[in-house]
Amino acid sequence: MSTPTATGSAPSSVLEQDHRELVASFESFIRRELEPLAAELPETADLPPAELRAYVRRRSAALGFYAGDYPEELGGSGMPFTAVVLLHHAAGRSGCPLAAYALAGSDGPSPLLLHGTEEQITRYLVPLVRGEAARCLALTEPHAGSDAFHLTTTARRDESTGEWTLRGRKTFVSNADRADFALVVASVDGEATAFVVGMDNPGLRIGQRYEGMSGEPMFELLLDGLRVPADAVIGGENGVGAALGNGIDSLSRGRLVVAAMCNGIAEHALAQGIAYARERRAFGERIGAYQHVQEHLVSSRADVETAKLLTLACARLVDEGTEAPENAALAKLTSSETAVRVVDRALQVHGATGWVRGHPLEFLYRYVRMMTIIEGTSEIQKVIVARAMGLG
Ligand SMILES: Cc1cc2nc3c(=O)[nH]c(=O)nc-3n(C[C@H](O)[C@H](O)[C@H](O)COP(=O)(O)OP(=O)(O)OC[C@H]3O[C@@H](n4cnc5c(N)ncnc54)[C@H](O)[C@@H]3O)c2cc1C
Repeated sequence: MSTPTATGSAPSSVLEQDHRELVASFESFIRRELEPLAAELPETADLPPAELRAYVRRRSAALGFYAGDYPEELGGSGMPFTAVVLLHHAAGRSGCPLAAYALAGSDGPSPLLLHGTEEQITRYLVPLVRGEAARCLALTEPHAGSDAFHLTTTARRDESTGEWTLRGRKTFVSNADRADFALVVASVDGEATAFVVGMDNPGLRIGQRYEGMSGEPMFELLLDGLRVPADAVIGGENGVGAALGNGIDSLSRGRLVVAAMCNGIAEHALAQGIAYARERRAFGERIGAYQHVQEHLVSSRADVETAKLLTLACARLVDEGTEAPENAALAKLTSSETAVRVVDRALQVHGATGWVRGHPLEFLYRYVRMMTIIEGTSEIQKVIVARAMGLG
């Protein structure tokens, strides 16, 4: 019997014909270099060691995959955004636990830094694009999550020296334990302003560590009279009060990347569900012969194809320069909700086998749950779409 895929024998969608060679060479990198490394990890380890993740990042950057859409003069490959989306999809679809670290995520280059001064771009953005440095983003606060810019962290300027003093508390910061620097968003007279701060600054302290349902921990960051020089404002003087505008430029792309990862994960889970349904027998038949099982798998296929087409269409609009925030919101909403549902159904098809600790679906069931929360919750995506529809 041929190896089942999530798409049967049909090409998964016409849009995937684009960038086929690039995706094939990324998949070959995963197969030849990352899968052998992943095979040595303990089966129940949710999080690969930090040194291994850093190695994967650097190696992928050297091959031109990591941060592929950043310009070549910054160390990227100048790829269209559609190509980046397809790579994230391929990483999720591979099922390899190291593949996600081969592509820039929450510790990688930030579009906020594209608005940085020349000096900030050279000092911070270039090492990030090359995979040589890692960063974190400190935006969320105990009372400012979805309402992200309702900040109580403040930054005050000393008019005589130009230095800034930041006070406040940030929460749920990913990567804080291994970042070289943080992008910290604080209020300057009520206007959100982004600062770049070395993690070795004595005024910046890691507080509580939060273990999530899977994978990477998150951290509290305490800013206790954190002093930074005048040139720590991203974008220099023009950057004061500009974090919101500059951030909005990048939010759509971040959401489409999450959507693509979700589509890949869903496709991978679906392929596992199909494979199991074709082999496992009950009541004298393969379980895939039963309509209740088919319902899980066929509905999943329809959902995954819909989410993929929507995400890829939105990515193409970004490349054409006609991105609209509600498009990315629709794609992120559809893909993340689909991935949670598809992983759940695939696990159901596996019965107790999928529930056992160490089974790939057991991990994915916990891992995928964050996708409807990060980069704006599903409810916030609906708020964005409702507003674009002239409601609310
Ligand atoms: C894995 C993970 C990694 C993260 N990494 C980072 C990071 O690196 N840096 C960082 O700064 N933050 C990070 N976060 C925090 C993340 O950005 C927030 O969790 C997210 O913005 C939601 O905020 P909240 O958790 O405070 O929920 P809340 O904003 O309190 O929302 C609670 C519920 O109310 C709903 N809700 C809120 N407002 C509305 C509304 N107007 N209409 C309808 N429903 C609404 C929400 O959708 C949600 O269901 C991370 C979170 C997770 C889970």
